[in-house]
Amino acid sequence: MNLILMGLPGAGKGTQAEKINEAYHIPHISTGDMFRLAIKEGTELGQKAKEYMDQGALVPDDVTIGIVKERLGRDDCKNGFLLDGFPRTVAQAKSLQALLEEMDDSIDYVLHVDVPEEDLVERLAGRRICPTCGATYHVTHNPPQKEGICDNDGSKLMQREDDQAETVKNRLNVNLEQMKPLLDFYHDKGNLVKIDGDQEIDHVFKDIQSAIEY
Ligand SMILES: [Zn+2]
Repeated sequence: MNLILMGLPGAGKGTQAEKINEAYHIPHISTGDMFRLAIKEGTELGQKAKEYMDQGALVPDDVTIGIVKERLGRDDCKNGFLLDGFPRTVAQAKSLQALLEEMDDSIDYVLHVDVPEEDLVERLAGRRICPTCGATYHVTHNPPQKEGICDNDGSKLMQREDDQAETVKNRLNVNLEQMKPLLDFYHDKGNLVKIDGDQEIDHVFKDIQSAIEY
């Protein structure tokens, strides 16, 4: 089973990816992991990617696609895979399709874990972290016993710069703009399955299971 997982930051993609991996024994392939592996193993494409990354530049599509191809050709992908973070653009999606066709394969489902933007802002902007022990809290979903104070060591909790409401909104909007054309692309292909991500983790996973098993 070949799957692509899509969703905005904070939608709970990582958690669902783990569950899919456990239940269906297909590797969870994130873009970051894929690059790290290629670089660690020193493949030609990995070295090329590293050159771009060291310069703070975007890795060009042909290099990225090459790395995807190497990764999907590995033994652990025999029964399928779960892509996360790739493709990011319609051009990449088309390249992926061509690549899979070469391998006589295709994408079965694109799972879009959908959570309303305002809920994501609430989820992300409510995060607090302890600067001393690194414990994480959420003002409403996982509050400390005493407001603003770490349960473990009494330190004053902080909010990461990235989690400020305005920053979160901007980040989500950028991601949304990037994701929309891709969602349209897969919708037109008939692969897209929208999953209501605004539920308990286990319910989200049940919906994923019923979507891909029937
Ligand atoms: Zn602490």
